Amino acid sequence: MRRRALVGLCSLCVVGCVRPPRPSLMGPSSRPVLLPPQLFRAAVPKSDAEWRAAGQEAATLLSQYIAINTTNPPGNELKAAEWLRAVLGREGIEAQIFEPGPGKANLFARVPGDGTGRPLIFLNHMDVVLASPEYWKVDPFGGVVQDGYVWGRGALDMKGEAIAQLMTLIILKRAGVPLKRDIIFLATADEEIGAGVGAAWIADRQPGLVKDAEFLLNEGGLTRSDGHGGVEFYGIGTTEKSPFWLDVTAYGTAGHGSRPTPDNPVHRLVRALRRIADWQTPLTVTPAVERSFRDLAGVERDTTVRRWLSDIRTALRDSVAARVITADLTYNALLRNTISITGLKGSDKTNVIPPVATAAIDVRLLPGQDPAAFLADLTRVVGDSAVTIRPQGPNWPATESSTETEMFRAITAVAHTRDPHALVTMLMLPGFTDSHYFRRMGIASYGLGPFPLTQGDSRGVHGNDERISLDALRFGVRFYYDVVSRVAAK
Ligand SMILES: [Zn+2]
Repeated sequence: MRRRALVGLCSLCVVGCVRPPRPSLMGPSSRPVLLPPQLFRAAVPKSDAEWRAAGQEAATLLSQYIAINTTNPPGNELKAAEWLRAVLGREGIEAQIFEPGPGKANLFARVPGDGTGRPLIFLNHMDVVLASPEYWKVDPFGGVVQDGYVWGRGALDMKGEAIAQLMTLIILKRAGVPLKRDIIFLATADEEIGAGVGAAWIADRQPGLVKDAEFLLNEGGLTRSDGHGGVEFYGIGTTEKSPFWLDVTAYGTAGHGSRPTPDNPVHRLVRALRRIADWQTPLTVTPAVERSFRDLAGVERDTTVRRWLSDIRTALRDSVAARVITADLTYNALLRNTISITGLKGSDKTNVIPPVATAAIDVRLLPGQDPAAFLADLTRVVGDSAVTIRPQGPNWPATESSTETEMFRAITAVAHTRDPHALVTMLMLPGFTDSHYFRRMGIASYGLGPFPLTQGDSRGVHGNDERISLDALRFGVRFYYDVVSRVAAK
């Protein structure tokens, strides 16, 4: 987020690479788990000192959680799920673990409300991306707490957010806060790879666990710190672009490399890719982006850029403004369907002209775009009947959740209790999260990034020295609790 691209295209069905799920495992873990001390008890924290204690407990939990290495592949999410079950179990919250493959796991827990409202889901993924220790200042899986930070792979993406969710649940349970809706804690495998055994597996194999929910909170939001202890804006993820990954294949005549042929498929492919790379897809302003840009104009310091953002449709008619705005990679990705050529394959042997040559291209479509129409446009751009373009697999339309909901209003209200002038805006992600599985089930799903982060902090996501400050963690736990109690408490 980032706009970091969340990697991983999940297939929509469970493929044959996993063994059948074992029945749910209930009850205590077979392995002893040493849990950190419980630093506050039996009441919702009120004073700053009590919230500091909750933040300290969150930091200790996060440190333990990071130390469970869930680098995917292979993930080993089962270990993480067992730890989460132990933490929840100590609070009297029963959790169920599903094992869709060896070492893989999805954990489900439900804290009941009185049923007057529909459930709220906390979604988090347990897996993390690779970390190369030689580039880090600390062991990325050491759970190191030093210099006012919790360090480690997953501190931001997204074990930190999982702990904010977990602490919210713990506070509600310990204090016995009566709930009007169930809260579902759903920790999934496989977000970073997308092999179909995480959120995809839940949506496909256990939809009954979640389908009655009204709201879902997930990664994909951003609270931008001003770097001086304040918040520049709260960005709530309401929509994501749709990945539409394609294979481009050129056909020709095979032969010996020493005798060039006029229809060498590699030459043909290169010409096709040149045309694709040169194609400027049209600039398109979606309603979500128009609103988001207008909101962000309010915190933009550069007066010219502020004017452009406040009326992006007019600005894009001016070629200078359009060039400057689209030079920003994130703005560019939010304003058009994008194409990145990412893979090439010809012959394995330098002296052999192959019969086919292929390329992989990563296309991301804006909400409202028709994949078939885009494919037709791209085929016209290539203009060669000996080149075919085909989708790599199933895709899904870009999904969107409304801002006119109790949840969006609650987030806005909580931000405004901290700062009446705070900007709360919607974000569209150029990448994607697992939220689309749930949006397609009709569940209003939001990216909520509760930790105030500078741009520098965000670089740790999928990068080196990922870390979260204790101040940001404390802020995030309290923010999460305040939002959820507003929506779920009686
Ligand atoms: Zn993530």
